[in-house]
Amino acid sequence: MKTIGLIGGMSWESSLAYYRIINETTRDRLGALHSAQVLLYSFDFAEIEPLQAAGRWDEAAERLISAAQALERGGADLFLLCTNTMHRVADEIQRRVEIPLLHIVDSTADQVVKAEIASVGLLGTRYTMEEGFYRDRLSQGHGLEVLVPGPEDRRLVHEVIYQELCLGKVLETSRDHYRRILRELVGSGAQGIILGCTEIGLLVGEDDASVPVFDTARIHAQAAAEAAL
Ligand code: GLU
Repeated sequence: MKTIGLIGGMSWESSLAYYRIINETTRDRLGALHSAQVLLYSFDFAEIEPLQAAGRWDEAAERLISAAQALERGGADLFLLCTNTMHRVADEIQRRVEIPLLHIVDSTADQVVKAEIASVGLLGTRYTMEEGFYRDRLSQGHGLEVLVPGPEDRRLVHEVIYQELCLGKVLETSRDHYRRILRELVGSGAQGIILGCTEIGLLVGEDDASVPVFDTARIHAQAAAEAAL
């Protein structure tokens, strides 16, 4: 079994889910007392979020590169960023370590394509919904058409992530807003929905949309367990 390196804490609410899903998948595959070999480098997110908000991505990348190098020295055979947003600096990190990064967009897109879905609605932080690092990898890398909510709803989706979900707050009012946004994306032609933020699965899931829902945290964690076995 390979050792999985996790760069988490962004936020720790979703790192918890990664740890649980990786171990559940390993147990289901191997049975009995089996569990995954995992190294976790968990950040203080209060030190990372201001760098994102200020657009200081190079500094954030340096922090994550140090973490990836620490995981490599510790014996990780592969590593994951337990966040969609920080994949903005995935290429920079990968250049500075030998061990492979399991990219969240690739793991997710594989599942979308397998479901024969061509057009997806994307929810995530504003960086994920608006910048090329994520959308282009889905469209140019995997041939998917990507739909995002309008500007007002993007702001709402982003604020719920940082002001509620990353703090462990799951509010019914926000769930209702998200459900409406999912309905509108489906109305615009989305055949599936990507929950492109690792905390969104805490708020909505497959019962909240009329089309298949792809939870990036779950898919990414399962892919890591499979890659390690
Ligand atoms: N975990 C979130 C994501 O998947 C948002 C927090 C972050 O910026 O890392 O994008």
